[in-house]
Amino acid sequence: MSSCPSLRRFAAAIPLILACPLARADAPATPNWQVAGDEAAQTLSHYIQVDTVNPAGHEDRAVAFLGDILDKEGIPWTSYPFEVGRSSLVARLKATGTPTEPPLCLLSHTDVVPSEPKFWPADKGPLSGVISDGYVWGRGALDMKGMGVLELESMIQLKRLNVPLHRDVILLAVGDEEVDSGGVRELVKDHWADIGCSQSVNEGGLGLENLLFKGQTLYGISVAEKGIAWVKMTATGPAGHGSRPDPIQAPHVLARAAYALEQYKPDIHWHWSLMELFHNVSRTQTGLTRFVLSNPGLTKLALRGRFTHDPATRAVLINTINLTNFSGGTSPNVVPTEASATLDCRLLPGTTPDDMLATLRALVPDPAIRFELLQGRNSNESPTQDSLYQALAKYAVLDGAGNQRKNAVAGPVLSVGFTDSLILRPVGVHAYGFVPFEVTLDEAGTMHGNGERVSVANIRNGLRILYSAVKEVSAL
Ligand SMILES: [Zn+2]
Repeated sequence: MSSCPSLRRFAAAIPLILACPLARADAPATPNWQVAGDEAAQTLSHYIQVDTVNPAGHEDRAVAFLGDILDKEGIPWTSYPFEVGRSSLVARLKATGTPTEPPLCLLSHTDVVPSEPKFWPADKGPLSGVISDGYVWGRGALDMKGMGVLELESMIQLKRLNVPLHRDVILLAVGDEEVDSGGVRELVKDHWADIGCSQSVNEGGLGLENLLFKGQTLYGISVAEKGIAWVKMTATGPAGHGSRPDPIQAPHVLARAAYALEQYKPDIHWHWSLMELFHNVSRTQTGLTRFVLSNPGLTKLALRGRFTHDPATRAVLINTINLTNFSGGTSPNVVPTEASATLDCRLLPGTTPDDMLATLRALVPDPAIRFELLQGRNSNESPTQDSLYQALAKYAVLDGAGNQRKNAVAGPVLSVGFTDSLILRPVGVHAYGFVPFEVTLDEAGTMHGNGERVSVANIRNGLRILYSAVKEVSAL
């Protein structure tokens, strides 16, 4: 409700009456993006200094840090432990009156991956959180304390501005995403009845500069993630002395099996998200480029070579088998009875872990080899016919004045890695991955790498994008 006095009551108060029409009765003020963005940058600087490197995580520290801020803002929260010293945080802004839609979840993980400080700039280390040259430096700036802070600040702004809500808005800050998704799995298993959101935004896509066309930023919104089949491949054979090689010994059998896997020729599948993305891109182009990108058959012909050549884009089109570890013998002169390898297989929608096991057995029909599924999860996806997806895509490409940016386009993408969104979709959540920062490929490469950072300008702009989308799908 507006605090503007009615015209009848204050008919004589001409200066007030003149001021009132500027503020619509049902439209709260908009945050000052510069001020709110700078506040978020300061919060991120301190958040990066909270050591939540996983392993061991110690995510209780992040819960205490975020909880202190929420307490100051009068936003209620609860912590949910999942191991000793490790917990997740759930904060809630309640709907104004009776909710008319299930809650919206703003999801982030509070843990970060380890770093190699000696490869970082000396005065901008992984836990420094230093703000220098317009950037906030440190582990988690992009993955994903930066996004967590945008979500927190969006919630704070909704609260401070008294934005009336038709649904609850929930902040989910969970631990252990980087190792085992322990935080979100525990919330889904034991506390989902209290949360029960129907939509969520989480990490995933980013705005990438010059990805397809020079000068254009492509905002990918992750709508699907590949599944996994983590498999142990074990060879068995007679043990013996290292001086007497025999092709039936386990290490030899394993080497032949590894070679057979290298011969894997997977079918190429163009996921619907790619075609929708190209269609969106086509609308920013002219002439032949526009014609080709708006025609799925021509697009596949034109881009097949480029996409299958680069391992990063090739993985979007195929099921992958990646040999990530060998283990076996203990001594150079002892042939072990068993030798094994670990396979990280990533699965497109429609391929199950059992399907992949059948593929592996077909590639390696040797009875001396056995395959064991260590962990398997199906791929899953969310539709683009969804209010949250559409709000994210809309605000990603609008400038601060609300005008369409010429050199920006948004669209759906299939992520080759997985996030906690993979855990939420099976319980009915439309889950999207989108960090609204606009970065170069080099900057994106600092995630899990050296010199991770995000610009303060990105924090201001990203806050505007996220807050606007959250408000659009939650406000009365
Ligand atoms: Zn992450």
